[in-house]
This record gives sequence, structure tokens and C-alpha cells, in this order.
Amino acid sequence: MTLNQEKHFIGGTWRPGTGGGTFPVIDPATEEVLCEAAAGNPGDIERAVAAAVLAQESWGKTSGKERALTLNALAQGLRSESEELATTEVRNNGKPLSEAREDVANAVECFEYYARLAEEIDHRQGESVALPDARFESRIYHEPVGPSALIVPWTFPLLAAAWKIAPALAAGCTAVLKPSELTPLTALHLGRLAHRVDLPPGVLNIVTGLGPYTGGPLVRHSKIRNVAFTGSVPIGCAIMAACAQDIKNVSLHLSGKSPVIVFDDATLDQAVDWVVHGIFWNQGQVCSATSRLLVQANLRAELLERLREKVLALTIGSGLDEAVQVGPLISSDQRETVSQSVAQALHDGAQLLCGGKRPQGLDRGFFYEPTVLLDPPLESAAWTDEILGPVLSVRSFKTESEAIKLANDTTFGLAASVMSSDLAKTDRVARALNAGIVWINCSQPTFPQVPRGGCKDSGIGRDLGEWGLKNYLEPKQVTTCVMPGAAL
Ligand code: NAD
Repeated sequence: MTLNQEKHFIGGTWRPGTGGGTFPVIDPATEEVLCEAAAGNPGDIERAVAAAVLAQESWGKTSGKERALTLNALAQGLRSESEELATTEVRNNGKPLSEAREDVANAVECFEYYARLAEEIDHRQGESVALPDARFESRIYHEPVGPSALIVPWTFPLLAAAWKIAPALAAGCTAVLKPSELTPLTALHLGRLAHRVDLPPGVLNIVTGLGPYTGGPLVRHSKIRNVAFTGSVPIGCAIMAACAQDIKNVSLHLSGKSPVIVFDDATLDQAVDWVVHGIFWNQGQVCSATSRLLVQANLRAELLERLREKVLALTIGSGLDEAVQVGPLISSDQRETVSQSVAQALHDGAQLLCGGKRPQGLDRGFFYEPTVLLDPPLESAAWTDEILGPVLSVRSFKTESEAIKLANDTTFGLAASVMSSDLAKTDRVARALNAGIVWINCSQPTFPQVPRGGCKDSGIGRDLGEWGLKNYLEPKQVTTCVMPGAAL
């Protein structure tokens, strides 16, 4: 590893932590310690926020065109080091190499997309609004909300960071990024790129460390005006409560338990392929994983047979092996959680179609077999709670209205997938589902142009698209009386 992983990126330079503490970064496929990273503390946060506040003054006044140049330079840097970034992501997160390459490519696209939106802000500044009263004229300006805290999880370390850094910088906000303590390496690589493309000091700061000790003081800092968080529901709740103390902007991207509904008129092979991708991609450690399969009763037997064949054929191993489709889970704790969830589901009455244990021959690494559970009771945790692992729960339905009822019977509202060849039906069902994302005849595709986020316990606000940019902008109306002497 050639990164400055024992230092934070603050004010354009690499600085050791003020406390001197570190934490180990683990390769989940081998359980080896890859390196030590700096454990940020309130002193490091103080320095990083001070750098962001100082830089905000000038960065907030740059033109959108200037900011677009910087974002495109970052995109170019990512592109030119894409293979190294992808390999680092595999070693730190465990995901298969093909998926890590896709993440890097999506991060590049994200920076380029927000570079274009940054330029559009210039054109939109001072947009006039038609008013019903001829004595007045109003114009709308879009101003950066200010120094922003960006807190991301380990599931998509680079991509989740890109989804927040790119719109924040495009909007003219400076930022302090706190990556997950489990996966800080590609974020630190991004810091090195920022340094190389001469991002003005303090525009992007990166502080590594543990959640409560590094993320906590960042969220509570009075000079932070905006918090963009992706992670679990309990931490999201705590962050929202902290933001309420001094009325900070907050957007929350939280967990899910998303359904995939397969109707009997679906193209079976295509449906099975997407069902498998929707849950076993990134080992099921995906907030929007379609982890609840609802299959129409008369298709169930055939679908389960094909599903079992396909799942058993998946290649499990180190993500660095090009042939591997399923890598290790992120940590020993995560594997334990998944294993306990499966044991509890079987205790609750679910049947095991396949999987349910550590794969044979993989004694090192946090591997767990892709697992399919049949008919967990509606109230069992395997049906209601996010497992965040390679575990698919299956139940059947008879009618369209029953499918919608079962799909919506959850505290979450992130994503859903619908498989049918009847497009009038898919449209009807899509409109009836309580979710921020609905995929028809597919699962999980993501594009920077369209908003991503959920309702209910899955969060508040959206990443990506124009909506993603709005998290970092304050609209300001300037209203002028154009008829002197005209009093109200
Ligand atoms: P987590 O909530 O434990 O941690 C997320 C981030 O918050 C980490 O960087 C962590 O260090 C930090 N953190 C922890 N405690 C904190 C505190 N008290 N104050 C400030 N920061 C703190 O989640 P995780 O285990 O890293 O990630 C998995 C979760 O993320 C899953 O629930 C998954 O569904 C969710 N997720 C959601 C989306 C989405 O777009 N909705 C995307 C990816 C992951």
C-alpha cells in the first residue's frame, strides 16, 4: 500500500492525527491486516472543519464553470487510476473485481455528470419567476449551503463517497468526508487525486476513524451546516437528532428490505437472472438488495428449481480472482450476524432451499454461502429486517393485490423490483409500491441522472440527479418592487 493511510487529508495536506491512535484495516478475503489508518478524534475534526470553513469563502464564490473543471479533473484522475482503485476496493471491501471496476466507472460518471450540472448553475443563477402582481419581480439564486459533513458506509466505499462529494463540490460547498472505519482506502486514494489535481486546500478534507469518536464530533460541529449520511437506521436517527440541536440540513440514506415480485407471465430465465443479481451482488451487502422474493404461486416450483441451480453454480472466493462472483462478507461480525439471522429464520419455521453455512474449503476469509430461505413467517426477522448479507427470503402470492400488500408490508421504502411481460400491470404495480426506486424487469441498475433514496425508515432526501445537488443548495429569492411608490 502506497497511500498515506495513517494520515488525514486536511487543508490540502496529509496530516497525522492529533491523538496518534490508529486502527487496523482488514482484507476480508484473507483476514490479514492491510495497514493501519489514523483514528480521528475531536482535534482532527476541529482542524478539518476549520479548513473547510476557510475554503468555503472562496470556493463558494467560484463560477460553476471553474468547479466543473475541477470535477472533470477528478473524474479523469479516477479514470486513469481505475484499475488500482478497483483492486484496492476488492482488497478492502471483498467485492468481486468486475463489480469494483463497475463502481469506479460509475464514480467517474458521477463526477462528470455533476460537472455538467455545476455549469448549469451559472445559467440558472438569477432565474426570474413570473409573478401575478406586476409591481414586483422575483429572481431565484442558488447558493451553497456551506461546509458539509459527508458520512458513508462500507458497502460501496468509493461510489458512496462520489455520490456525495461530486454534488457537494458542484454546488460550491466544501466538505469533510468520513469514510467507514472498515473501508477507508479508496477514499484516501481520492484524497491523493484531489491533491494531484490541485483542488484548492480545504475544499475536500478526509478524516478517517471510528463512528462515534470521529463521525460524532463532525456531525455536532457548529460550523457544519449540512450533513449527508448513508448508513444504518439507528445511526441515522442519532444523526438527525444531533442535527436538530442547531438546525442543520440533513439527508439520510438508510436501510431496506426490498421486494422483488415475479408474476407468472415473467420471462423466467430473465427473472431468475435478475433475482440472483438483486440479492447476491456485493454478497447481498447492498441497501437496495431485493431480499424478499414474492413469486406467483403457479410459477413457484419451476422458478425455485432454476433459482437453486443458478445459486449453486455461483463461484465463491477472493474477489481478486476474475472468475469469482461472490466474495467474502465485510467482517467476521457481519458473517456472525448473517449466520445468526439464518439460524433464527430456520427456528421460526423457514425451510432452507440452499446455502446456510460457510463454504467448504474457504477456511480463511469471512465467506458465507449464498442462501435461499423458503416461507419465513411474516413476522419473523428474516422477512422483516435487513440482513445485509447473501440471504434471499421467498414467499408466494396468488393475486396482484396480494403481491402489492405483501411488498408494502414493511417499515422500509427504499426499492422494489417487478417482473412481468404485461407492461400495463408493471406500471400499475410500480405506482402502488411504497418505494423510492422501482425497477421493472431488472434489479439494481443505477444512473447518476435519476434520484436514489427511499421513504419510510429508508431515509429522507435523495442522492443523485438534480435532487442530489439540491441537498447542497439554498434557494434565495430576491424580490424587487419595480413600481416606485407602489405600497402594498
Ligand atoms: P453505520 O450506520 O454503522 O455506519 C455508517 C457510517 O456512519 C460509518 O462511516 C460510521 O463510522 C459512521 N458512524 C457510526 N456511528 C456514528 C455516529 N455516532 N456519528 C457519526 N457517524 C457515525 O452503517 P454501516 O454498517 O457502515 O453500513 C451499512 C448500512 O448502510 C446498512 O444499513 C445499509 O442498508 C446502509 N446503506 C444505505 C444506502 C442507501 O443509499 N440508502 C447505501 C449503502 C448502505
